[in-house]
Parts: sequence; C-alpha cells; structure tokens
Amino acid sequence: MTSNPSRKKVLVFRELPPDQLARLQAQHEVTVADPRVPEQLAAFHAALGTAEGMIGSSYPIDYALLTQAPRLKVISSVSVGVDNYTLPALAARGIMLCHTPGVLTETTADTIFSLIMATSRRLVELANHVREGRWTRNIGEELFGWDVHGKTLGILGFGRIGQAVARRAALGFGMPVLYYRRSPLDVARELPELLGKVTHTPLDELLARADIVAVVLPLSDETRGLMGVREFGLMKPGAIFINGARGAIVQESALLHALDHGTLRAAGLDVFAREPLPLDSPLRIHPKVTALPHIGSATFETRHAMAVLATSNLLSALAGKRPPAVFDFSTA
Ligand code: NAP
Repeated sequence: MTSNPSRKKVLVFRELPPDQLARLQAQHEVTVADPRVPEQLAAFHAALGTAEGMIGSSYPIDYALLTQAPRLKVISSVSVGVDNYTLPALAARGIMLCHTPGVLTETTADTIFSLIMATSRRLVELANHVREGRWTRNIGEELFGWDVHGKTLGILGFGRIGQAVARRAALGFGMPVLYYRRSPLDVARELPELLGKVTHTPLDELLARADIVAVVLPLSDETRGLMGVREFGLMKPGAIFINGARGAIVQESALLHALDHGTLRAAGLDVFAREPLPLDSPLRIHPKVTALPHIGSATFETRHAMAVLATSNLLSALAGKRPPAVFDFSTA
C-alpha cells in the first residue's frame, strides 16, 4: 500500500474535543499521547520522531525536545500564552508557532474580574461562613468587604485581555484605570469607548496609585519575577493584588511577605509558579488568598472555541496555507 503524502503525521499532546480530533483524523495520521500521563510518555517520544505537526498545551517544548522531532514544521498551541515554548529554538529551526488569541479574551477577563470581586467582597470566606454554619447572627464589621466600584484599577499588560478587564472596570464599575505596557496606546483611535478613562502610567507610579493591581502580562524574560519585594513594597497600603496571567511573573516569596508582613489586603490568584499548586504551598490556605486552579479560559464555550481555532491553525499550516493565528516572534 502506498502512503498518501498529503496525510501528515500529527502528534496531539493534550486531549482535544472529539469533533476537533475527528477533523484532524480525517486528513492526517494522528497519534494522541499526553506526556504528562506516565503510561503515554513513551508513545509521545516515539511519535516525536516522525511528527510534522503538534497540537496541545501546557508542556514545555525546548531545544532538547526539538532534537527528537527532526521533521517538525508547526506547533499549534491551544493557548494564547506561548511561555512553554523556547522561542529561539523554534525560530532557529524555522518551526511555525500558532496560538489562540482573541477567542478566550472575554472569558479570561471575566475570571480576572471575578477575582477582583471575590477578594474585595470576601466572597469565598463569607460563603464558607454560611456553609460551615457560622452565620448565627447578623455579620459585623469584622466581616465587611471593600467597595469595588470607584476604586482605581492598575492593569499590568494592556493587550486584548487587559483592555477587556478595563472595559468591565471603567464602563461597568466607574473605576479609573491606569495601565502599564511598553508602547502607549492612542486611546482616541484604538479604544474610543475608554477615552478619558484609562491612563498610561509608569510601573512604579501605577503600583503606588492603584487600589487594585491586576497582572495580565505575557510571561517572558522581561516579565519573569517582575513583581518582587520592591514592587509589592510600592503598593498602596490596603491594596489588592490579582494575577490572571502566569505565576512566574510574581516572586511568590515576595507576595507572601507582603501578605504576612506588609500592608497588602488580599491576593486573588489564578496562576502559580508551580501548577497544580503543591499541597504544601502556603498560598493554598492563606487566609488572605483566593486561589483558583488556572481557570482563566475554562468554560465549555471558550475551551471549545480554542480547540477549534488551534485545529484550524494546524490544518492550514499542514496544507501550506497561512493559519488564522500565527504567533509573531517579534512581539515576544
Ligand atoms: P496580548 O494581547 O499580547 O497583550 C499583552 C500585553 O502585555 C500588551 O499590552 C503588551 O504591550 C504588554 N507587554 C508585553 N510585554 C511587556 C513587558 N515586558 N512590559 C510591559 N508590558 C508588556 O496578550 P493577551 O491575549 O491579553 O494575553 C496576556 C497573557 O494572559 C497571555 O500571555 C497569557 O499568559 C495570559 N493568559 C492567562 C490565562 C489564564 O488562564 N489565567 C488565559 C489567557 C491568557 P507592549 O508590547 O506594548 O508592552
């Protein structure tokens, strides 16, 4: 039997929804092997040897791994963040990287705003108060929260998701927004609905002025460890810190110090330096921390939309066409 050259070897390294897997299988020879599942690790390494395309997420792909994949042409990440991929290694080999911008923007902004609400109004703590049968009389000041509306929000990383958070804050909650990014926006032209409501602000000034600081930056060499002792020390007394981007942007020891010995009121965290969060991490049960299991984009609708876009990216690339969402290495 002669093999059909248009059918390429594809390695799926994280589970895809059945309809998207079927799209791939209709056109290509597909191996599904998740390297995080011990029983599938050998199959993953074996498939690397012939794979021309890979699709998945949340697994580091570096120089060493790429040496095992001599025929690889394209990686389609089911994520917008590309911090798991050693970008110079991909660039050196001319391997295309695709990702899923846009389709998860509003859902991730919802998650970040949920953390703002939860930390300010102490929602988890107070829900547990009811659940545990401690609501035996009207609550007093010791359980009051803090208003969100009208507070100043500082957003670190003002791209798609940061701007979606800003719309919620400025238009829905009357919050003045300060934002930090390397290139200021022409708000009148690019975000007219936020004209007069968002202000480009240097990092130190933003930290000193914001009541709530939310991180929505990509993880890169420049942003790794960005929030350290000095930065938490600059934050306003009683401020709230939110991380909806990547755990490694924050030095967790510095965050813990600010929670235990500084004036930080609370932290809302969707992401951590190590995930799943180790059981012995002090952040897991810290009374001032609301911790989520990396659910930024985790809704039925959005995870499916991400899988559809990632599958379309891979199919286009393997067909020699321009995929809808190629990651631009020059923006890293
Ligand atoms: P984006 O549109 O590319 O926005 C990134 C923003 O960060 C831009 O405004 C960029 O502006 C700024 N930036 C990049 N590097 C910077 C630096 N060194 N210093 C200051 N600003 C910098 O990305 P997005 O779609 O909003 O996603 C942002 C990140 O959110 C992703 O990379 C991902 O890690 C994270 N995320 C997390 C979840 C979750 O589940 N929690 C879900 C989705 C995304 P300049 O280039 O002008 O600096």
